[in-house]
Amino acid sequence: MSEISKCILCEKDAEKSGVQGKDGYLAECVTCGKYFLGSPGIFEGSYTGMPREKRAMISAYTRELFERGEATPEFGDSDALKEIITEYENKTLDEKLENLIWYIRKKSSQFGDSISWDAGKDYPITYSLSPEGFTKIRDLAMEKDLLDWPARGVGLRLKEEGWKMGTDSVSLKNDKEFKEIIIKAVHNANFSHYNGLYKNLEEEIVFEVTTAKGKKYIIVAHYWDPEKGLISEQVGKYFNRTRKSEIPYIIVTNASGLTQEACEDLEEFNKIFEEKKLLVIFGSNEDEFIKEFLNL
Ligand SMILES: [Zn+2]
Repeated sequence: MSEISKCILCEKDAEKSGVQGKDGYLAECVTCGKYFLGSPGIFEGSYTGMPREKRAMISAYTRELFERGEATPEFGDSDALKEIITEYENKTLDEKLENLIWYIRKKSSQFGDSISWDAGKDYPITYSLSPEGFTKIRDLAMEKDLLDWPARGVGLRLKEEGWKMGTDSVSLKNDKEFKEIIIKAVHNANFSHYNGLYKNLEEEIVFEVTTAKGKKYIIVAHYWDPEKGLISEQVGKYFNRTRKSEIPYIIVTNASGLTQEACEDLEEFNKIFEEKKLLVIFGSNEDEFIKEFLNL
């Protein structure tokens, strides 16, 4: 059973439903996404008594988890959310802009799609306190030529630069999402044989594959923090593993580039062998990885 009542974060209508065996309710709100509030009798007041600006930062957090498909957060005393509130208060203009572009890219299935929005509901996407904050970031994105709003009454459209920026971040910001993409890409690449070893799902996933041309590879999916890129010492850890292996390795990664140093190290390493023993494949979505896999 669910009922409509006021969202404790944004004060608009939310659907609330009980969870069996738990004292609390699950709230679903178009603005805030989803959250579970435990022991509302005790804790609800600690939210409703909070300044609006602080609550808006919790909305930014819950909406973000919701849009990124992460687990629904469970809240108790609002005091425990102090650090999260500060984190969202400190979001930079660039981060706000990037998140808006990410969101519109996520909702677009192809270049040129118009995405409808409602500043009144979507302001948490830009980590803003209010709809005005959303409008400000939207205008900034248009000024920077990332976004187009052709006319009133139609949706927002990513321009070429915005599309590129969004495509990079769609699969790059989240390790779990990245790995799911790789699992699907390996599955759909029509290898004549593949064996998903999933050795350390936390750190990396590993596949043994045979291509249509009969070549064997070990594919290791490794997510790298896009800010840092692929750095030398991290690639180095694969040198030992590859050296001992009869089958060449392929590091499949989201990182948009190898650093110069890592490139040189990799080249040196591959020189030891008749055929390259450690390859790197970059990509940002399932189709790109499949295309690379089919070329092997
Ligand atoms: Zn809400």
